[in-house]
Amino acid sequence: MIYLDYQATTPLAPEARAAMLRWLADDGFANPHSAHRMGRAAAAAVEVAREQVAALLPPGGRVVFTASATEALNLAIRGGQGGPVAVSAIEHAAVRDTARWQGIDVELPVGSDGVIDPEAVLPDGARLVAVMQVNNEIGTIQPVARLAERAKAAGALFLCDAVQGGGKLAPPRGADLIALSAHKLHGPKGIGALWVRDGVNLTPLIHGGGQEGGLRSGTLSPALCAGFGAAAALAAARMEEDAAHVSALWDAAREVLSRWTLNGSETLRWKGNLNLRLDGLDVSRLMSECRGVMFSAGSACASGSGRPSHVLRAIGLGDAQAKTSIRLGFGRYTTREEVVEACRALDAAAKAQGA
Ligand code: PLP
Repeated sequence: MIYLDYQATTPLAPEARAAMLRWLADDGFANPHSAHRMGRAAAAAVEVAREQVAALLPPGGRVVFTASATEALNLAIRGGQGGPVAVSAIEHAAVRDTARWQGIDVELPVGSDGVIDPEAVLPDGARLVAVMQVNNEIGTIQPVARLAERAKAAGALFLCDAVQGGGKLAPPRGADLIALSAHKLHGPKGIGALWVRDGVNLTPLIHGGGQEGGLRSGTLSPALCAGFGAAAALAAARMEEDAAHVSALWDAAREVLSRWTLNGSETLRWKGNLNLRLDGLDVSRLMSECRGVMFSAGSACASGSGRPSHVLRAIGLGDAQAKTSIRLGFGRYTTREEVVEACRALDAAAKAQGA
């Protein structure tokens, strides 16, 4: 089995697992919001984790733990004041659908290279501009520093979904709100974070015990927090090494799949994301013929959702081209041998189809 679906989720780092086990052990079950000794020990572990996650983010803000990046993004969008929200045409559903649900969606256009125009017109009176750091489907890196600067000049807050860039790239500059997800950076599923710049006020979506400074009620899981923290610390320590490894994997994959066409910019990208298309390819057939390779159909924006990809459409691909696209995602724990073997298998199966 070769796992090439790093954008969907990443393998849990052994260091993160070890950090979690301490809080899953017999004496690790205390409520971190309890005042007694066991509770205080758990709370201390949560605060260590908060610092570790904060180290991936800019100074001058606080980290609010949530159950997922989806929740963090909902809090950022729905927890603000009313007024137009501008979101890029290639945002994840967690941003797009939340903005749409509010009924005030203004879409910022994207070029055929998968990069948002940094000078895109922002709506008058916008209160929030949301653009992701790295696209989850095609891996393109967005000009978020410039867009944040322009949002600020227009009097709007800037929200950056840094789920796919967190722990891999430097944090987005100039953002007021940043969302992260632990499971995309080798931490556990079930925990995310919203970074909130000092001075930005949000209204909670979840009411109750007043945890997380009243912004997000609910008992925190010390195990999940500790796993997230350890994964964040490891990502910070290995950022350059991981990027170099991923770049070498990219070169190896591109060499084997040289006849395939890349979707999205070749240069402005996280190289752990390889979204490719090949004329005449039947992707469902490829998936069943290459069961040992875990990869995604490029045409589905959320695996298994069956919804056609709004990202591939936004960069100008027709349905036929989108349907012949696949997404390969690799990272820290993928070996060169795995990438070469998987790409050879995919290419051979595609050839056998006549593609
Ligand atoms: N934003 C992006 C860019 C993502 O790729 C994902 C997950 O696929 C999310 C948000 C949602 O993250 P979570 O799974 O933590 O809710």
